[in-house]
Amino acid sequence: MKNDFMNAVEFSHFLIKKHLDTDSILIDATAGNGKDTLFMAELTDQNTEILAFDIQKKAVKNTQKLLEKNNLQAQVKVIHDSHANLDKYINENQLSLVLFNLGYLPGGDKSIITKAQSTLEAVKKSLDFLKKYGIIILVIYKGHKGGLKEEKAIIDFVEALDYKKYNVLKYEFINQAAKPPEVIAIIKRA
Ligand code: SAM
Repeated sequence: MKNDFMNAVEFSHFLIKKHLDTDSILIDATAGNGKDTLFMAELTDQNTEILAFDIQKKAVKNTQKLLEKNNLQAQVKVIHDSHANLDKYINENQLSLVLFNLGYLPGGDKSIITKAQSTLEAVKKSLDFLKKYGIIILVIYKGHKGGLKEEKAIIDFVEALDYKKYNVLKYEFINQAAKPPEVIAIIKRA
């Protein structure tokens, strides 16, 4: 038996597996080096469309490379655009899962980070396009400059969501010295 709680990324993957609807569109809103995109692609087949967004060319390339290495490029569209524009690429009610792994590209330029305004715009659009029982998962990092500001904006927004329409969960370690990442998950009920 594993003798610890799941960390934030492990918990996000647990939620992805648990809520997977293969007959729909899945979005990785922050493709980065492609690890989360690969995780989704490994769980699905050609019936499921996966869209992966990133604003950095380097991240788009890294994600495409990783998918090609694993021969899983066919079911994923890697899009060089902001997740705030996700509505350009899908129609209403096709979406069952959106993952945000926020912050900066690991191994990349640490000054290019996700920002509250575009993250919230993308979350709001995702809520509009989400199928019933669809899920939005946000892995939020607070240790870098700008991280706490983004976290506060997200928490303020999700706390105010109507509980009759959405279930909102926060998964967080609360006794650690550093600021570990946390997970926010939103399920659409109606
Ligand atoms: N999921 C990735 C992985 O498995 O490697 C890690 C993602 S990394 C923590 C965050 C990424 O978000 C960076 O690559 C960054 O370029 C990207 N990003 C920042 N703002 C964005 C935006 N508005 N739209 C899409 N991606 C964005």
